[in-house]
Amino acid sequence: MAATVGEILNYLNEIAPPEWAFPNDPIGLQIGEPSQKVERVLVALDPDPRTVVNAQYRQCQLLVTHHPLIFRPLSKIRFDDPVGMAVQGLCAAKIALIAVHTNWDVAPGGVNDTLAERVGLTEVRPFGEGPAQKHYKLAVFTPTEHVDAVIDAMANAGAGVIGLYRRCAFYTAGTGTYEPMEGANPYLGQVGKREYAEEARIEMLVPAERLSAVIAAMLQAHPYEEVAYDVYPLHTQAEHALGRVGALPKPMLGSELRDYLAERLGNPHVRLYGKPSKVIRTLAVVGGSGGDYLPDAQRAHADALLTGEVRHHHTWEAWARDVVLLEGGHAETEQPGVVRLAQRLREYLAPRNVEVFVEGSDG
Ligand SMILES: [Zn+2]
Repeated sequence: MAATVGEILNYLNEIAPPEWAFPNDPIGLQIGEPSQKVERVLVALDPDPRTVVNAQYRQCQLLVTHHPLIFRPLSKIRFDDPVGMAVQGLCAAKIALIAVHTNWDVAPGGVNDTLAERVGLTEVRPFGEGPAQKHYKLAVFTPTEHVDAVIDAMANAGAGVIGLYRRCAFYTAGTGTYEPMEGANPYLGQVGKREYAEEARIEMLVPAERLSAVIAAMLQAHPYEEVAYDVYPLHTQAEHALGRVGALPKPMLGSELRDYLAERLGNPHVRLYGKPSKVIRTLAVVGGSGGDYLPDAQRAHADALLTGEVRHHHTWEAWARDVVLLEGGHAETEQPGVVRLAQRLREYLAPRNVEVFVEGSDG
């Protein structure tokens, strides 16, 4: 018995829905085809050439990684370049590649839940916005007879999806007034004459990653030379927030917390920025590169933020915000979530006799 790449992709999409990923995160099937048969899977943090050799050695037909291999469109595939080398190794051995990245960071039981568990947090709650939930409201004024054409154009570009309903829009009728100036080429009215036009105000919901495409499609379908429209940012829902925050098993000084995390993460080089003497009760966690979540951690009343790696400006921002910042290592803060992903796949694939291996520490 075996499974197919497509079945495994469907399962991954169930536990880490693609719409939870950050905009432009190239998750999903990166190499291969859904109909390919799979008897052995390797799960790893990175799709680097060494991992590809490991997948070949274990005779896997599928590699599932946290980090995508192809981030930007490739202009060339050179076998002496690390990305090209991995692409070549996967294609030569007919190994498919699936990336489960920020959608797994956010997911229940994913990278950040697993990290919170690993460092012993209780009363865990989400914090910090998941960028996938950023939405805008686009309001546009159009002649009444163009309402359907403009709604269709925006819907086809990705606006107006609410749950299982598409093309959701609201419009009200009203009067638009304007006076074309010298040189204008108005759809309705004449230069120098005040015009009163029957117009509708259409409102539609737009996910952040579709905003420019929706505006372009709306302008294309709209008859006016100059289109009046407004874009409103909407309040972000926290239900798929990226980070987790919770209570430590006991209050600790910043310096004690650093040692505690070093032990929990198996990384003796955990670094601390901010006040080592601060008493930490509430810890926020974001695996990987989460230094930008310092303001969210502060708003969530965390005394400290643990993340994988930080940039220079985060080191003084930690002092300025009085949130102790702990740098636990990119791999060390994400590997527990990678191991958890392998466990989930193993449970799902066990009845099909598909073997699942995990690269690196089993933690
Ligand atoms: Zn990462």
